[in-house]
Amino acid sequence: MIQTDILIIGAGPTGLFAVFEAGLLKLKCHLIDALPQAGGQCSELYPKKPIYDIPGFPEVLAGDLVDNLMEQIKPFQPGFTLGERAETIEKLEDGTFIVTTSKGTKHQAPIVAIAGGLGSFEPRKPQLENLEKYEDNGVAYMIKDPEVYRNKKVVIAGGGDSALDWSIFLADVASEVTLVHRRNEFRGALDSVEKVQHLKDIGKINLVTPGEIVGLQGEKKLESVIIRKTANAAEDVMLETDFFIPLFGLSPKLGPIADWGLEIEKNAIKVDNALDYQTNIPGIYAIGDVNTYPGKLKLILCGFHEATLMCQSAYQRIFPDKKYVMKYTTVGGVTGFDGSKK
Ligand code: FAD
Repeated sequence: MIQTDILIIGAGPTGLFAVFEAGLLKLKCHLIDALPQAGGQCSELYPKKPIYDIPGFPEVLAGDLVDNLMEQIKPFQPGFTLGERAETIEKLEDGTFIVTTSKGTKHQAPIVAIAGGLGSFEPRKPQLENLEKYEDNGVAYMIKDPEVYRNKKVVIAGGGDSALDWSIFLADVASEVTLVHRRNEFRGALDSVEKVQHLKDIGKINLVTPGEIVGLQGEKKLESVIIRKTANAAEDVMLETDFFIPLFGLSPKLGPIADWGLEIEKNAIKVDNALDYQTNIPGIYAIGDVNTYPGKLKLILCGFHEATLMCQSAYQRIFPDKKYVMKYTTVGGVTGFDGSKK
């Protein structure tokens, strides 16, 4: 059982900044995210896009903003459960909550802050008859630890940046990489397309375009895939492989949080914005893109503000008898928030 003061569901920019604000109040945080990395939409959807409306940064790439947020919260040593979706919540008699993930990891905290953005990103799966049989048995929808694929045969399907980038990366890790895409043209960055073409030319990647995986085979675990290159099914070929990784993108869904008894309006969680972004269940807050209230704007800056007020309220809930006196992170430029000399 992982125990913490504030359990944050969603490690997007809002969830990450909440760790900083909680840290100033000496509250510990643990974050759960369905994705294998932190950063939410910024990392998953547009890491290389510049953002122009973060105060103090005339321009910052979304991926760099996430790196900076991670650096900023480092002193507070937050815990992370990544690659697992928060599935269920249970309130105990002592008022604390237990949140269990898709992999059965249990977390306990007096405060739960849902910073789930547009929801958890669910992989788009190919329509293959026996796909489920091989999930976690050779079929994976995201790559958490590339070492799993060392000296193994890997078939990747997809035409976007993820499929290209992982094919390039795994070319030096796996014993064999085959990239299969339905079209001759890729949607990813031109530079990545050129790299893949180069790796194909020097024999480090097998490129099958146009092509499609139409079947999976194997006794208990995946042993081979069937590739269709032409409209004539009689010309299908079988390729031995240890892994099949379809990277067809992710689509966001509010998912199991929608069944937690929270008031939902237009696929977002209703909160009290006049006070502290608490939901209809005391002790559960919703901050960032996942919430709704009159005048709501889905912007990173608004998520930061909401996270700040949420933490102040959480402190009052955890320590109802303590009077919190707001302090600035630096006083006269002498010490930093973590006590370091400035
Ligand atoms: P998210 O970034 O969506 O993160 C939520 C996280 O919660 C996700 O990682 C998700 O996997 C996780 N999650 C959800 N449910 C669960 C669950 N049940 N279990 C585990 N994890 C879960 N905003 C700006 O301010 N400026 C811009 O220039 C800007 N440009 C944008 C450009 C694009 C293309 C897009 C798509 C958005 C842009 N935005 C911009 C909006 C901005 O990205 C969002 O406002 C911001 O990401 C919201 O942050 P968040 O942390 O609330 O949610």
